[in-house]
Amino acid sequence: MEDCIFCKIIKGDIPSSKIYENDKVYAFLDISPVNKGHALIVPKKHSKNMLEDDDDDLKAVIHASKIVAKAIIMAVRADGFNLGVNTNSAAGQVVFHTHFHIIPRFNDDGLKQWTGAPYEDNEMQSIQNKILNSLIGE
Ligand code: AMP
Ligand code: ZN
Repeated sequence: MEDCIFCKIIKGDIPSSKIYENDKVYAFLDISPVNKGHALIVPKKHSKNMLEDDDDDLKAVIHASKIVAKAIIMAVRADGFNLGVNTNSAAGQVVFHTHFHIIPRFNDDGLKQWTGAPYEDNEMQSIQNKILNSLIGE
């Protein structure tokens, strides 16, 4: 796609710190890392977000994420990593070409984890039923 920064990176029109590539996937270091070694794994075929990707492309991204995550952990001696996929603006997506973030984590990195809160009354069952109904036909 012409106006997509990640398509330009994949084509080599914009420089990137490439760390992995195969026929379906390109991976490079995030220019503004949450922790050093933070990488982005993207399908070469343009899509706005992961809901629009072909399953084969998504499988390739997951497979590459595993390979790259292992290498990042070794390279920066991380204690773990977060795999993140921001989907749509509400979730913090800024670049609208599917990408998986691999963020290396360290025991003492001080980053805050997500926090949750319990459901009230029958809310959980109600949400479960709505999701089950939405899955009919899948
Ligand atoms: P998101 O908020 O999930 O859309 O994340 C987009 C990510 O792309 C951010 O973490 C940016 O730092 C990163 N990013 C944007 N432009 C570049 C670039 N030219 N090279 C590397 N990473 C980039
Ligand atoms: Zn693109």
